This record gives sequence, structure tokens and C-alpha cells, in this order.
Amino acid sequence: MAYSIAIQYNEEALINKWDEFFHETGLGSQIMILADRYPEEKSLTVQFSILERFDADFATFLLEEPSRSFEAAQKAIRNQLAPERQNVNLNFRVTGLPVDSHIDIRNLRSKHLGKFVCVEGLVRKVTEVRPRLQKAAFRCVRCNEISWVEQEGMLQKEPLECSGCGKSAGATKFVLVTEQSTYIDTQKIEVQEPPEGLRGGAQPERLEGYLIDDITGRISPGDRVILNGILTGTQKTGPQGKSTLFNIMLQVNSAEYREHEYDEIQITPEDIENIRRVAASGDVLKQIASSISPTIYGFDVEKVAFTLQLFSGVSKEMQDGTRIRGDIHILLVGDPGLAKSQLLRYMSELAPRGIYASGKSSSAAGLTAAAVKDEFGEGRWTLEAGALVLADKGIACVDELDKMTDYDRSAMHQIMESQIITVAKAGITATLQARCSILGAANPRYGRFEDEQLIADQIDLPPALLSRFDLIFVLKDRPNSAVDRNIADHILRAHRVGERRKVLDLPQGISEEKVEQESRSVEPRFDRQFLRKYISYAKRINPVLTDGAIKIIEEEYLRIRKMGEAKGASIPITARQLEAYVRLSEASARGRLSETVEIEDAERAIEIVWHYLSKVTGGDIDKIAGEMSHSQRTHVSVILDIVRQGASGGVSIEEIVAGSEKYNISEEETRRLIEKLSKAGELFEVRNGIYRIVSQK
Ligand code: ADP
Ligand code: MG
Repeated sequence: MAYSIAIQYNEEALINKWDEFFHETGLGSQIMILADRYPEEKSLTVQFSILERFDADFATFLLEEPSRSFEAAQKAIRNQLAPERQNVNLNFRVTGLPVDSHIDIRNLRSKHLGKFVCVEGLVRKVTEVRPRLQKAAFRCVRCNEISWVEQEGMLQKEPLECSGCGKSAGATKFVLVTEQSTYIDTQKIEVQEPPEGLRGGAQPERLEGYLIDDITGRISPGDRVILNGILTGTQKTGPQGKSTLFNIMLQVNSAEYREHEYDEIQITPEDIENIRRVAASGDVLKQIASSISPTIYGFDVEKVAFTLQLFSGVSKEMQDGTRIRGDIHILLVGDPGLAKSQLLRYMSELAPRGIYASGKSSSAAGLTAAAVKDEFGEGRWTLEAGALVLADKGIACVDELDKMTDYDRSAMHQIMESQIITVAKAGITATLQARCSILGAANPRYGRFEDEQLIADQIDLPPALLSRFDLIFVLKDRPNSAVDRNIADHILRAHRVGERRKVLDLPQGISEEKVEQESRSVEPRFDRQFLRKYISYAKRINPVLTDGAIKIIEEEYLRIRKMGEAKGASIPITARQLEAYVRLSEASARGRLSETVEIEDAERAIEIVWHYLSKVTGGDIDKIAGEMSHSQRTHVSVILDIVRQGASGGVSIEEIVAGSEKYNISEEETRRLIEKLSKAGELFEVRNGIYRIVSQK
């Protein structure tokens, strides 16, 4: 804000200037129209640019001294109204502030206090809309006369003396007459910085906003808004009295929305040319995939799947009103130390509107949303958005998904399919949008995958939730000398490249040329900015399935269903997976900037789904259903069964060993598993050597 005020205005000059403005711009007649519609219409909204064209100095004055200027504007509006319309109380709101007035939340400083500024943010919390006393009517108990007091601030202000008998507040008493007083709707909201503006993992900063009258009740948690308002300080009060420290809050004058998420990313004609060129260069999806977390070795198929997730399928509204999601949900389940978290972080920073969250979130809203009554609401209920709502129209990367709360667990079902979350608690009933793709990561139930046990049994999430993921990738950490060498080479090279960036010259004996070459292997093919542009450009395309693509998807689906049928197992894949094929193929077409979904797109989808299915089932497709005969039962479940069926006081280790020997499980193996199960919290050692089952899930 590098303005200097060229002209000072006194109050009269200000009002005159606003009069002139309304007159010259023809807004005077609009005020008449609004007055006719009052109170359905309660605001006159003006673009800042109109004001600027009228008089640049005067417009600057509004930015610098908004309180005085708005007050004068309000008076000037009254002047435009006929005498019989003086009950009309229109708000004057200004939108479209100049770029210089856009301040990042984290950059708000004391110099901005009292100025008209514009902040952009993601809405985290909104309170209920509640009336606030505006003009209070007090009756004097001595003479019954009414005294009027304009209210401001949070505490009720009483008259100092009676306007009738003139007695001071000490000599009489005042009673608030609620029916005669006037009220105004108020609401408090909290916005946080949008994630794309944050530098590498910084925590978003937050700002409180205060809304009054007709703009209350319109903003929902998860919305992206531009708030124009006056930054004010509120004094903190402590036990020792008033502090000299202030909190800041925005007195919101107007709120604006963006129409489309892709408006957030500016794409020039030159960018489009680049995007088209890259798309035509062949195998563009592989190239983009190699730009995802290039320091992480391997995950070739997974990275292509992530790429498709960035583009997502086409979301559809059917004629009967049902909506089919286009978002692709992916789950990574795997042993620790396999770079799952690293991949998630990278994706959350790469994806437009990406958010990184942990399943064991500390906020009340958790992953979904909640109604809470806390300090923020000042006695009102507050609706707070969790990560999945904040990631609306983006990607939510949720780590440690298996650790989420029971409340989130149940809310996730609704979110993953219908992409909304309903909150009904106390005075709040709300439906929030959560149209996001989910990229989840989880560890297996016992920390690591047990080879002896079915994979499906080791994923600690309810089957109904699992079936909502389009893709589930199982990652096992098993020594394999060829692969291990490649990973080790890759990690060590990446580290040396990182070291190279810290020093001016390489020490003697290390080849500059070699390190240079190494750095190429860990550099992304495309930079983040370009990829974001590419993604948002591609997402404007809504590709249509060709007959050829439909045919091969159908054949593949029937083929896999038949594999299940032949082995007599329950159904390995459901119609949900059929939709997964469609979404993945559509995303692939988008990635190629193609208007049609071709056979090659369908084939790509089939390849990825097959990669997932074959891993989950260990190559044997019907195992996914989990139909096991007695003799096939795994060691872990044998042991758990013995303890479960034993005495309620607990089962001794000797009994367990004896019992499991009948199933050809060695004593050593049994003891190992008992220890493992105790550590995983499945078994509980009641006394020395006596075990009990911990929970019956
Ligand atoms: P997880 O979340 O799966 O437990 P992390 O994301 O915390 O694992 O990764 C552990 C570390 O191992 C990270 O520093 C990561 O860079 C490294 N790492 C693991 N696998 C690979 C790989 N394939 N290529 C490069 N680095 C890897
Ligand atoms: Mg991790």
C-alpha cells in the first residue's frame, strides 16, 4: 500500500463528494430502486474501479480512511432518499479492490490497522448468525421516558442520564425495552491462507472476520473467498486489566467468490502453446509421472496413477439429479519407511488446491467437519471444516488414515461417495461440499505386512470404506538385491546432489561432471508451476468415451468377474471398480488433451487396475474376497481364536502353544506371534504368561 493521500477532506466535503459521485455515475437512481425493494435488498454494491474512474484521489482516500469515508457515503445515500424513506438503511459495499490493497494474511501489520484492505482465504470456521443490539431503547424507571443508545462493541452500553427527567445513571435505573430496540444480524468467521500461497510446509496463518446484516449466513466452511474490509484491532484483556497488545480482525465490508477453481491459475496464450507442444510430444503421462517426487525411486505405476488423479475423471450430473464423482481415490497401504509420507507431501504441494493432513488430526473438526462450542463463537455454535472440506475441488492427502477417529471413519463413507458432509448438532444443520480426491496412506494392522496372513485382513479399514477407493496399492518391503541396489544408488545420488547445492565448489577428487549428471536423474521433468498450468488447462476438457474404449473396458471387467466365478469365491470386483476404469480412462484422455477417450486410455486404466488387483491378492484374484477354509487359516487367526475361545480370565502361553501345535505351528513361531500381537495391542498380558483378547472389533 504505497498510497499517499493527495487531498484531505473534511466531513462536509466528503459527503458532497459522495453526493456528486452518486449523481454522476447514475447510482442515485439505483438507490431509489433499492429503497423500493427494501428490506429484501439491503446493500448498494459498487466496484472500486468505478470510484477510481470518477476521482482517483477520492478513491485512494477510501482505502486510507475507510471509516470516515464510509460514514460519509452512508449519509450521502440518505440524502438521495425521499423524506418518507428515511427508515431505509442501505449498506454501502465496495468490491474489486486494486492489487496493491491485496495483503497476504501473514503480512498484515500495524500499518494496515484502520485501512481498507483485501485478503484472500479459505474459510475454516463460521459461527451461527445471531442478532446484535444496534440501537437500544432504555426506559427510565422514574419517569418512563425512553432514552436511545447506539451500541458498539460486545458489552451493552446504558444511558449516562435519562433524556426525560435528566436523572443520572446513579440516581435512576434503566430497563432495556427489547421490542423497541433495533437489531442487526452478525456472524464471525475465520479464514486461513490458501495452501498454494504457502512456502514449503509452512503452517497457514488465520484471520477473524466480522460480518453484519445481509452478507451474513452466506459463507460456508471450505469456501474460497476474497474479503474486503477494514482491519481493526481488538484489545486483549487479562486478569490485570487491559493489555497494550491487540488482536486483529477484519470488519468485513464485502465478500467475493471465484467462479471457477481454474481462474486461480493464470494461463497465457504462450503457456497454452507450451502445453499443447508438450501434449503432442508423446507419452506425456509418463513424462508428468516422472516429475512427481523424482528423488523417490521406483513407484512407476503408482506415479502414473497419481498423475491420473491430478487430472481426475469427469464428474457427471444425471438427468434424475444424481451426481457421479469424477474424483479418483487412491490408497497406499504399506510397510513403514517406503516413502509413503514423502509421496503424499509432494502430491499435496503439486496439486492445485492440495492439502496434507494426518488421520490423527488434533482439531475438533478432524478430517471432516464438526459443530463446536468454543471461545471463538463467543457463546454461539461454530461450524468448523476439516481437511477434506478445506480440500474441496482439490486433492486431500491424508497420511496415517488408519488412525482416524471413529467419528471421521463413519463420516468418510458419505464423503467418499456423495462428496458432501452433513453436520446436524445443536442449532447448526449444514451440508458442506467436499468434492475432493483422496490420496490416503496407511500402515498395515500390525505395523508390517505379515506374509502368513491375507492382505485384505491386514488393512485396518472397514471393507465398505475400502471399496470406495478406486485403487489400493499394497507396498511390501522385502529385500531384493537388484532393486535394493537401485534404490540405494538413487537415494545416495540424491543426497550428493543436495550436498552439491550447499557448496560453491566441489572438493578435490569428486567429479563435477558426474554430480552434474546425477542431478539430472533427480530433477523433475517439468517444474511445478508449469504442471499446475497444464493440469488446470486439461481439466477444462470433458472427454467422451469412444465405442472402442467401452468395449475393452467391458471385456476386462467381465473377464475379472469370471475369474472369481470360476474359483467359486465371492465377488472380487464390483460395479464400483467398473466406474474406476471409466474415471481412470477419462483422466488419461484429459492428460493427453484429447476430447475422446480412446482405446489407449482404456488400456492404461486396465494396466493400472490390474497392477493393483494382482498385488492385493498376491496374484490370486479370489483371495481378495477373504473366503478361507479351516485348514487355510493363517497362524495369526489361529492364535487369536485359541485365546478368544479360552477361559475368560486369560489363557496361558503353554495352552496357546499346545493349541497351535495342532495346526502345525511351531512353538517358536507361536511365541514370536504372541509377542507381536501384544505389541500391536491385540493381546493383553493379564499376568505373567497369561493372555487375553484386547478388543472385540
Ligand atoms: P513411510 O511414510 O512409508 O513410513 P517415509 O515417507 O517417512 O516412509 O520415508 C522414509 C525415508 O526413506 C524418506 O526419507 C524417503 O526419502 C526414503 N525412501 C524410502 N523409499 C525410497 C525410495 N524408493 N526412493 C528414495 N527414497 C526412499
Ligand atoms: Mg509415514
